[in-house]
Amino acid sequence: MQPILTINNLTKRFGPITAVKDLSFTIEKGNVYGILGPNGSGKSTTLGIVLNVVNRTSGDFSWFDGTETTHDALKRVGAIIERPNFYPYMTAVQNLELVCKIKGVDNSKVNETLEVVGLLERKDSKFRTFSLGMKQRLAIASALLNEPEILILDEPTNGLDPQGIHQIRQIIKKIASQGTTILLASHLLDEVEKVCSHVVILRKGESLYTGSVDGMQASHGFMTLESKDNGALQRELEAMNAFTSIKQEGDRLVAYLNKPMDAGALNEHLFSKGIALSHLEKRKESLEELFLEITQNN
Ligand code: ADP
Ligand code: MG
Repeated sequence: MQPILTINNLTKRFGPITAVKDLSFTIEKGNVYGILGPNGSGKSTTLGIVLNVVNRTSGDFSWFDGTETTHDALKRVGAIIERPNFYPYMTAVQNLELVCKIKGVDNSKVNETLEVVGLLERKDSKFRTFSLGMKQRLAIASALLNEPEILILDEPTNGLDPQGIHQIRQIIKKIASQGTTILLASHLLDEVEKVCSHVVILRKGESLYTGSVDGMQASHGFMTLESKDNGALQRELEAMNAFTSIKQEGDRLVAYLNKPMDAGALNEHLFSKGIALSHLEKRKESLEELFLEITQNN
């Protein structure tokens, strides 16, 4: 496996706020990574640090094999972390040619990147006539001009209409299928589910899950349980070491499995410990429920 970006114990404090806390993960070539978390969870700060626009408090990160300076390594990175900004009275082509000049790359890629983002027919239209979705697509084209090994996008579909959202997601998938590694930050679970192969889930700057999106979906489900003495029930469940978390919801306990188990086996075990259940149900939750569970109840 070829590392593109390695982050070790990264921490960022803004005064009393810890925006990123002891974060570690590795990005490998060819995958599509999502940093998923609610607003304020530290996604943009993390991207800002690795792109050298935010100073870290502690920890470190390294690009590629770690032999280049960050400044040099970033020449092989394409990133869009702000709203796209181009010259309104210049056409799409003129704007991209200017970017080529600034980046010191040849103009030859302009038409090709416009094609990738579906703007070739509009190449001679002025930027000011573009919809927000088209502006965002032009920003992606611009980030691709120097043929980056990784494309970084911060909330790429924010503010777009459903069609615009769909187009951007299709474009990201197309770029990924051509072998470019992608790292995108999003607060939208379904975006990460649809686009990404791997995910880092952040809550208040801390990683709660790092791994494949499939792995996250393959959760072992959860049990809802009730007995006359839920305190005793909870102690028995905790002693089993079979659950990642157990919480009270109304009159019932909800216990998230960390390994496969069926309701019958659990019932038998609890009965042998003298606990009679008045309710027992096993469910496998949707990714959405899992995300809410991970981000709200830790
Ligand atoms: P996200 O991108 O996930 O919405 P951010 O990384 O923007 O989250 O913010 C993480 C936390 O850091 C938030 O509490 C935010 O208010 C705080 N923060 C971000 N940038 C600054 C800054 N420049 N000064 C002070 N606090 C900041
Ligand atoms: Mg952000």
